[in-house]
Amino acid sequence: MTEQCLEVITISESLTKDISFVKGVGEARVKLLNKLGIQTIEDILYYFPRNYEDRTKMKKIIELIDGEIVCIKAIVFSRMAVKKIRKGLSIYKLVLRDDTGTITATWYNQKYLSHTFSIGETYVFYGKISIKYGKKEILNPIFEKNNSSGKYTQKIVPVYSLTSSLTQKVFQSIVGNCLALVTGSIKEYLPHWIRKKYNLAEINYSLKNIHFPTSYKSFMEARRRFVFEEFLFLQLGLFSMRNKYQQLQGIKFRPVKELQTFIDRLSFKLTEAQNRVIREIQGDLQKEKPMNRLVQGDVGSGKTIVAALAMYISVKNGYQAALMVPTEILAEQHFKSFSKLFQNENIHICMLTGSISKKQRKILLDGIKQGNIDMIIGTHALIQEGVEFFNLGLVVTDEQHRFGVKQRAILAAKGKNPHILVMTATPIPRTLALILYGDLDISIIDQLPPGRKKVNTYVVDDTIRNRIYEFIRKQVLEGRQIYVVCPLVEESEDMEMTSAVKFANTLKEVVFPNFNVGLLHGKMKPDEKESVMRSFVKGNINILVSTTVIEVGVNVPNATIMVIENAERFGLSQLHQLRGRVGRGEYQSYCILFNTSSSTVAHERMKIMQETSDGFKIAEKDLELRGPGEFFGTRQHGLPDLKIANLFADLDLLKLAQEAAYDLLAQDSNLVEKENEVLKERLLSLFWNRADEMAFN
Ligand code: ADP
Ligand code: MG
Repeated sequence: MTEQCLEVITISESLTKDISFVKGVGEARVKLLNKLGIQTIEDILYYFPRNYEDRTKMKKIIELIDGEIVCIKAIVFSRMAVKKIRKGLSIYKLVLRDDTGTITATWYNQKYLSHTFSIGETYVFYGKISIKYGKKEILNPIFEKNNSSGKYTQKIVPVYSLTSSLTQKVFQSIVGNCLALVTGSIKEYLPHWIRKKYNLAEINYSLKNIHFPTSYKSFMEARRRFVFEEFLFLQLGLFSMRNKYQQLQGIKFRPVKELQTFIDRLSFKLTEAQNRVIREIQGDLQKEKPMNRLVQGDVGSGKTIVAALAMYISVKNGYQAALMVPTEILAEQHFKSFSKLFQNENIHICMLTGSISKKQRKILLDGIKQGNIDMIIGTHALIQEGVEFFNLGLVVTDEQHRFGVKQRAILAAKGKNPHILVMTATPIPRTLALILYGDLDISIIDQLPPGRKKVNTYVVDDTIRNRIYEFIRKQVLEGRQIYVVCPLVEESEDMEMTSAVKFANTLKEVVFPNFNVGLLHGKMKPDEKESVMRSFVKGNINILVSTTVIEVGVNVPNATIMVIENAERFGLSQLHQLRGRVGRGEYQSYCILFNTSSSTVAHERMKIMQETSDGFKIAEKDLELRGPGEFFGTRQHGLPDLKIANLFADLDLLKLAQEAAYDLLAQDSNLVEKENEVLKERLLSLFWNRADEMAFN
């Protein structure tokens, strides 16, 4: 009795047990597993296969077709024949038969096979069939004795993403050992009604079948459950953050009468989309609870003026407003344009960055604390300790994708539940924005100001590189400036990519010795970067070679060509962002994409860039072709990874999971009911990074 109890306790605790506890996992393997991010038994069980090999198909020898990959059950009919072809190459051949015919199994350089087989024994072989002139061969087959339990053949076998020193076979057997330890005893964490309503498989069954499916059907059942569950948790976490936010007491702004007059006096007419978004923001600002809104808009759609108007409303209500941007250059540009915009308004604006002098900083900080300064534009310097506000009413972050959520939260915490406005130029299809930004309300500026010239985009390869250089030379001689973007900073041996450093040198010394070629990359110190960027803004640099650090919002209207090396290496949305750096002035602009890949997908992607200038369409295509993993950077947002769910292919399940999350929180908004206890525990552990933002914590 006691012994039994003991065992139950061990088993239920064993999910969190260290991986070294598992049979077959010694010190060396622990290290390799750790490298994959696997520490516990649970980690390995949720390390899902990236693919599967279907080894279930079993055929008689007579039925075999050239080229197919199948299992055959056969008797060893000969001794192993070894033929040394040349030094370092030996061929091993074994004749096999079943009751329908004979076949030769062939291996290369597998010395250990010499003494493995005995004549007359039955094995199952799995491999590729080759039939030439009626002679049948099975090439490099995997095999096991017929009487063994069928570990590697006659099964659907998982394929994992592994590092080179960990083989599939070893990993599979570790997973198998883990499963043997815990299956049957893992507590189901999805509420019963959800599993029933959405027809979801049970957890023990699902874990077993996601790794070692007994059939295609059982695999699909397991997969469906995990996809649903990933979406459900993601959505539950986001919804509950939003709930928490909506329970806060915010600052209710009154309508600002002068706003319309101010808008009417602008040097341009706002687009309909801008007007709509401003109305949405106004609506939020006049509510009791704080605004928490994301404004998405393509590059150049005019997000800055929208932010400025929101800040104007705040200041006119007697509250300070802060704008945080990712780089000093951007801060400077915004500061200049805001100063001009509000020059007749008696609004005190300041800029706070890391490079201002100590003395100046102290004066500014005093002004901000005393309330003498109304609008503060700055970099990360804004969220440092020592920056205190008099009464912060609105926080805006520009180019949100460059910040972590934490940074936004730190800035907001410098006020008493200030309104929050988040701006991003990374467009995301609406359904997906609901996931990534599920804790925010969303506005979209889906229209560009009139009269924008399209950036002419060309996909080229090395054969016309000299012509491109000629074109660049011509533009520079006319006074224009050029961006050249490369994917890597330093040359890496295994990837033949043009590195910024080396490429800049070539351009400087060989191709354009008479022009001023600048270099900008992520490994430079911030002040070095700023100074290079500044001389480009001033026009002192003709050609700026850089990594993607220039992706974010700088405005150099005189730049007319964006050249991107190894364009196939970039995400489409990123290419689109980069392209948005040109075409900002009166001159016709060009984007030149060097594609060195011959793959069809690469060509297809480049074609999209050539044909489309709509950031949303590009984002959707990107997602379709590349998959959502990289696209989202969920980790950067402090959200759990989607390991198995595909935001594109599994859209239907996403909708169901959204519905379930909604219903669940409607019944039990703080997840206090007994039935939801395990679910809540798991949710909090998945969102460990942002757990403090959730309603029930
Ligand atoms: P982004 O959305 O990329 O941040 P910006 O706010 O920097 O775009 O705007 C790009 C340019 O368009 C700026 O020079 C801005 O003054 C101008 N602009 C913004 N709105 C309009 C408009 N409605 N009509 C004409 N020009 C506009
Ligand atoms: Mg901008």
